[in-house]
Amino acid sequence: MTTTVNPLELIDAELSKASAPRVSKRPVFLFFKENHKALIRPLATLQQCLVFQKHNRFDQEPERRVNAICAAEVGAACVHCAAMAQEKKLAPSMYFYLPIYVYGVVDQKTGEKVCYKEKNEVGEEVEKPLQGVRVLELTSFGTIGAVLKFFREFMKDGENAAITEHDFSITQLGTGQGKTFVVMPKIARPLDSKIQQMTPTAERLRERLLEALPPAVAEGIPLARDKGGEQATQAKQGAGDGSIPEF
Ligand SMILES: [Zn+2]
Repeated sequence: MTTTVNPLELIDAELSKASAPRVSKRPVFLFFKENHKALIRPLATLQQCLVFQKHNRFDQEPERRVNAICAAEVGAACVHCAAMAQEKKLAPSMYFYLPIYVYGVVDQKTGEKVCYKEKNEVGEEVEKPLQGVRVLELTSFGTIGAVLKFFREFMKDGENAAITEHDFSITQLGTGQGKTFVVMPKIARPLDSKIQQMTPTAERLRERLLEALPPAVAEGIPLARDKGGEQATQAKQGAGDGSIPEF
């Protein structure tokens, strides 16, 4: 029997899918660049932050890069764990995910607000000032370790309120090897009720992280899918005045 499907067409379709830029989704993480100063409010305490083992391998070749939550975190067999015996760089590390509200990010050099690009309903790219709910990806190692250490020490100090009761500025100084982060606390004040409403539930946060850093599940064990209805209700309640995109 001959098949009516042309494998070459399938191959081309799959290849272009693989090389196409990721479908523009709403941003999840707050990324820094040199001289960027972000004013943020943690939306969870360190006790409430989500913790995942993640495989992270940088490579010059984009196809070889790995940035994936370990499938063991969703109770499945993990492709990267299986490959780890051959490649030590694939060993997972512990990552801490702290949801934050970003009031804004300013480029200290130009004094201008930092913007990001997002696709609107009709697929046009629009530039918006960076504002809204994001996630800080923290580790004990690397330069970002300074931020985790800061928050940990901050909460140990009896004179401070919980990290969720303060705003903080985080600034990246330098770049590459010389990169450092400076964190400064602001005076404790109640969280704006609109922002309070935008705070994602732990389930939503987990869902967005698994979406952004999809685990490589071996043996085709399916992941639990979103419950559409539940998500829709949640999306509605985040509302506000609509000027700030929902998480
Ligand atoms: Zn794994």
